[in-house]
Order: sequence, then C-alpha cells, then structure tokens
Amino acid sequence: MSIPKFTYLAPKTLKEALIMRASHGSKSSIMAGGTDLLIKMGLRTLQPEFVIGLNSVPEIDYITLRPGGELAIGPMAKLSAVVEDAEVEKNFPALSEAASVTATVQIRNMGTLIGNICNASPSADNATPLMIYDTKVVIIRSDGERVVPIEEFFKGPGKSVLETGELVKEFLIPIPEKSTGSNYQKVSTRSKVDIAGICVSALLTLNNDGTVSKARIALGAVAPKPIRVVKAEKILTGKTPTKELFNDAAKIAREEASPISDMRASAEYRKAMVEVLTRRALDASLAAATKKKN
Ligand SMILES: Cc1cc2nc3c(=O)[nH]c(=O)nc-3n(C[C@H](O)[C@H](O)[C@H](O)COP(=O)(O)OP(=O)(O)OC[C@H]3O[C@@H](n4cnc5c(N)ncnc54)[C@H](O)[C@@H]3O)c2cc1C
Repeated sequence: MSIPKFTYLAPKTLKEALIMRASHGSKSSIMAGGTDLLIKMGLRTLQPEFVIGLNSVPEIDYITLRPGGELAIGPMAKLSAVVEDAEVEKNFPALSEAASVTATVQIRNMGTLIGNICNASPSADNATPLMIYDTKVVIIRSDGERVVPIEEFFKGPGKSVLETGELVKEFLIPIPEKSTGSNYQKVSTRSKVDIAGICVSALLTLNNDGTVSKARIALGAVAPKPIRVVKAEKILTGKTPTKELFNDAAKIAREEASPISDMRASAEYRKAMVEVLTRRALDASLAAATKKKN
C-alpha cells in the first residue's frame, strides 16, 4: 500500500501543534501512533498535505493518578502501556481487558488509547469501557479548553465533536467506589486480530445491603456510535440483583441496539449477542463487586 506524499511536521509542544493545525486547517491531520491514520491515507480516504506528529512532543506519554482521585491518560500513552498499567488493571479491569484484545501486540505498541477514541469507530474496543467509567475528555484549542463526557464525544461513524482547531489533551477517569465490579465482552468473527462484531461493557456498584447503587451498560458495534443503555441502567439501580433483573436489562440492551448487517455479522446475530453479552457482563460485574464488598 503506497501513501500519497505529505509534509511531516514535528511540534515540540501541544500549543505548537494547535498553531500548526490552525494554519493548515483541513489540509492537515494529527497523528499519534498512525495505525489508523496511515491506513486511511493508503486507502486515499484521507489525503492530508501536512501530518502533525505528536510523537515529538515530550511528556505526553503518561498514565498517572492525580491527587483528586482521577487517572489521567495522555495523548501518546500506548495501548500496551494501558494493558501493563497496575492502576488500570486494579481499578478499570474492563479497560485493561479491552486494550489487551485490541489488534496485535505490534499495533498496541504503536497505537494509542486516545487515537483509538479519536478515530471514532463504532466498534473501537476501548470506547465502551471508557463510557462505563464516566471518562471525561479534555479538549484543547488555541484559546482555551473544554471537557466533554465521553458518551457525548462520538457523533457517528468516524465523526466526533472535535473541531479542526482542537485536539484531545487527555482523558480523566474517576476511580470507582470500592464495591464496584466491571467487565468487558467482545465477539469477533476471527478469534484474534479482528475488530469487534459486538462488544459490551458493564459496571455495577453495590450498597452495603447488596442493592445496586450505580449501574452502567455500554454497547459497541451495534449502532452508528458506541451507546450507553440508560434505560437498562435505571431498572438496575436501587434493586437487589437477580437473574430475572439481569434478563430484563439484557432485553432492553437488545431493543436499544440498532445494528447493520455487514461482513462481520448479521443484524439479527448482533441483536441476539447483545442480549447474551450484556447478561454475561452483568454476571461478571456482580461477582467482582460482591468479592470486593466482602
Ligand atoms: C491490523 C489492524 C488491526 C486493528 N485491530 C483493532 C481492534 O481489534 N480494535 C480496535 O479498536 N482497533 C483496531 N485497530 C485500529 C487502531 O489500531 C486503533 O484505533 C489505535 O488505537 C489508533 O491509535 P493511533 O495512536 O495509531 O491513532 P492514529 O492513527 O495516530 O490516529 C487515529 C485518528 O485519531 C486522530 N487523533 C489521534 N490522536 C489525537 C489527539 N490527541 N487529538 C485529536 N485527534 C487525534 C488522528 O488524527 C486520526 O484521525 C486496528 C488497526 C489495524 C491496522
């Protein structure tokens, strides 16, 4: 695959990257690891004259706990670093699992978590885990910054709220309460190196009496963008978890999904599997939350 000619720009700060972006506008693209961008350039679906590489910006490859109790993840933090990070594994197991099944080890060593989200694919492995953990996306532009909840970040296939003069500075993920369990489920056509045909993340936090104080369910690859199933979250909250309750929540998830048929799966299969995976993710989340509570 040949890539059309382009000029590579190597800013030394994010501010400099923003100035370059402002001056070249839609003729330019931001590049982190390049594992999505360079494929699109090879396929001619994107033909930027200028590629602004974030690789030359120091100190933006970080995963760190902030004093306020949030995990901050920078724009050059690789998927492999997410997989290996002890805080992610301890507090955000669904994200740890999703990152570990994203692509191959070679791609995880180049590709970033933030690039995976900015690409705005409805099937991005890491989108639904970040949604159940209430991730905030910090977006900067030359004259300021804004913070967007991740479920509002996606607009449709390949489309996000990012405007031309903006880039993602970091993700902020609040550490969940102690009695929280979460889980990630993925089905793909091939067992390895394949994007998700269907993916589901769930999170449950339990009160002392065993009732659900917080529930999150998010679905990927079954709608034009990753979605939260707020209706199902509502029926779980305040209740004692039972098989019947999880069945009801999983049925709602199935109803909320609006998948298409493509080479990875038929719409009917996707709908059926959303129900199955939601139930599995809830069962696993409950088991993990119960273990932590006791
Ligand atoms: C063979 C193969 C298999 C793959 N398998 C999977 C898979 O199983 N699951 C999956 O989810 N993905 C998969 N991918 C997709 C890809 O590897 C991931 O999406 C990766 O995380 C992208 O990160 P990156 O740093 O390489 O992004 P890049 O390619 O550098 O950027 C992706 C997009 O995000 C924009 N961008 C990047 N960083 C920023 C920023 N800070 N601010 C604003 N915009 C930004 C870029 O302009 C570009 O539009 C696969 C890719 C390949 C080639």
